[in-house]
Amino acid sequence: MTRIAIVAAMAQELNGLKEHLINPICTSYAGRNFWSGQINGKEVVLVLAKIGKVAAATTTTLLIQHFKATQIVFTGVAGGIGAKVKVGDLIIATELLQHDMNASPLFPIYEIPLYGRSHFPTHTRLSLELQNACEEVVQELQNPQATNLSIQALKQGLLELGLPQPQLFNGLILSGDQFISSQQASTDLQKNIPFALAVEMEGAAVAQVCHDFNIPLAVLRVISDKADDQAHLDFNRFIEKVACFYSQAVVFNLLSRL
Ligand code: SAH
Repeated sequence: MTRIAIVAAMAQELNGLKEHLINPICTSYAGRNFWSGQINGKEVVLVLAKIGKVAAATTTTLLIQHFKATQIVFTGVAGGIGAKVKVGDLIIATELLQHDMNASPLFPIYEIPLYGRSHFPTHTRLSLELQNACEEVVQELQNPQATNLSIQALKQGLLELGLPQPQLFNGLILSGDQFISSQQASTDLQKNIPFALAVEMEGAAVAQVCHDFNIPLAVLRVISDKADDQAHLDFNRFIEKVACFYSQAVVFNLLSRL
């Protein structure tokens, strides 16, 4: 049986999705609440990742081993890296890397010891469906007749924060156990890992676990801040006004495609 796990980074995102769960059952396990049921006719299990790589890895392992998830979709926010990525943009990971892994000189910098790799790819087909879902949501934002409630709320949020029409990117996302909130730290990441588009705290750990169990993964991150000196201010406003509506709109659209 197919069971799609939706892993959210924030309680606000999860609450929006939970409201639409048919036959909801909540199972508490290892300090996490796993919500099982159906959305759009699909078997799903919804959970908060918790913050940081270890917490996210534990959550992912439980989803696969205990809750028998067959595919994992992660939605959350991230700091944008580089000039072209702006607050409000959407990033779909093609691969993820742990920017705080460094066992050199024993292993090359960023390489996960004994894995022989630093980059963990996401699943191509699942990521493509996620991208199609994002593209449709972004198009709907331009439609003045759009009636969907999360699209309307999103439009309002983007307007209030003065954000332009979002752009969609595919590429490398970085994860580490740090909230990156200085221009210096952000510039250093950009210099050391030139293709990175965004930085967050969980994705690469989820990708490593999915690699171990051979489970398809897709990751969406909405840019909440620029990982610079004012990242903490942008972050909180953005979550409230924009991010939680994005994940609802995109996850619904995605589930109707799978
Ligand atoms: N205030 C939040 C905690 C935020 S931690 C709370 O109390 O729940 C930041 C979260 O957003 C992490 O889950 C991380 O994945 C993501 N994130 C957003 N911007 C980031 C940045 N600049 N650096 C690192 N992680 C970031």
